Amino acid sequence: MTNTFNPVIPYIEGDGIGPEIWQATKKVVDAAVSSAYQSERKIDWLEILAGEKAFNQTGTWLPDETLEAIRKHKIAIKGPLTTPIGEGFRSLNVTLRQELDLYACVRPVRYFEGVPSPLKEPEKTDMTIFRENTEDVYAGIEFANGSKEVAQLLNFLTDQLSVTKVRFPDTSALGIKPISQEGSERLIAAAIDFAIAQGKTRVTLIHKGNIMKFTEGGFKNWGYDYIESTYTEAFTMNQYKKIAADSTVEKADAALAEARAAGKIIVDDVIADNFLQQILLYPEKYQVVATTNLNGDYISDALAAQVGGIGISPGANINYKTGHAIFEATHGTAPDIAGKGWANPCSLLLSAVMMLDHLGWSEASRKVTKAIEQALQNNQVTHDFAQMLDIKELSTAGFADYLIESIQKEQ
Ligand code: NAD
Repeated sequence: MTNTFNPVIPYIEGDGIGPEIWQATKKVVDAAVSSAYQSERKIDWLEILAGEKAFNQTGTWLPDETLEAIRKHKIAIKGPLTTPIGEGFRSLNVTLRQELDLYACVRPVRYFEGVPSPLKEPEKTDMTIFRENTEDVYAGIEFANGSKEVAQLLNFLTDQLSVTKVRFPDTSALGIKPISQEGSERLIAAAIDFAIAQGKTRVTLIHKGNIMKFTEGGFKNWGYDYIESTYTEAFTMNQYKKIAADSTVEKADAALAEARAAGKIIVDDVIADNFLQQILLYPEKYQVVATTNLNGDYISDALAAQVGGIGISPGANINYKTGHAIFEATHGTAPDIAGKGWANPCSLLLSAVMMLDHLGWSEASRKVTKAIEQALQNNQVTHDFAQMLDIKELSTAGFADYLIESIQKEQ
């Protein structure tokens, strides 16, 4: 039975390097929890199956019991999973997100001193991305060229909606991009709530509304309307523009200055392609970002690469309304290095940090973060970074032991 101090947390160890990074993560998290709360709090880990391990033991890639356990215990943590190859198989990650309606993909991006980065000042990048996870062209409504469905859809488009713009109808595949008001509002609300809780001063909506006015433009407009009608803690640049249009720019400037002085969160929006320039030129301007699914995919990877963290950046998929959440390594199963002791466990470990924060166990989460910071600063790194920096490496298990030692020393 779950109680506040001994929660049962299901875990999926994952395929490929999954078992190695999971073992390292579990040991470090247990050490941090024990160091922070002694015997008062402890996680009761519960193994659940997915991926190759599930297939080998049960004949299915994602057993019903796995979903039931996550539904029951609300949160779970997972290593990377092999995507089964073959027609009709959907990515297990996408299935988990859709089955549990985990609508917010949350990716904090920050620099850790000692990590090789392509930027001169990587420490200026420090932001959290809220990527919509259930809609957009990722909803999976796509039809192959030459299929009966494309023919039917084209007929409908031309006959019923007078669409004449499909450039090569005979050879086109077609996809549909659904973006809804509810879907946009709940994601944007999650970003604003996070900004309020974390004392942030700016939230930015990223979209391509200049081209896709109803879908991407809808995301922006519904977002502004929702924020203006729901949050007294925020002032939007949409409000600024309205004041400037209805009155004067001076009045709008005064309203903005007043909102800033009152500690309100300033909400603005940036077109996605411009944002990809902005994050290289002025990353320090952005704190919390809310965006649609496809933009979010590109932005998450670009930002992670900026801080050298593509292999170590964490992620969580969360439904803030039901409380369901899966914290996960963002990289894949790395079959090329599995079993060699080369895997870097930081992505899963930092996802566990997000999980501890989600539980409100911030004393333990800070201990893990601090131990990672110290290890990287002291050039105590796994094979991936050791190769780039041309220094001695620790094995995955050795890296975990180093972190545990540093957590215990700090007690
Ligand atoms: P990958 O992320 O597994 O590997 C890309 C490169 O990064 C490889 O050279 C790998 O060795 C390296 N790498 C990845 N994680 C590392 C770590 N923690 N430490 C050190 N090096 C690391 O991507 P891939 O090769 O395209 O995919 C392999 C499998 O993983 C595929 O089946 C794919 O579908 C799956 N995948 C799963 C997830 C997930 O479960 N979230 C995400 C991406 C890919």
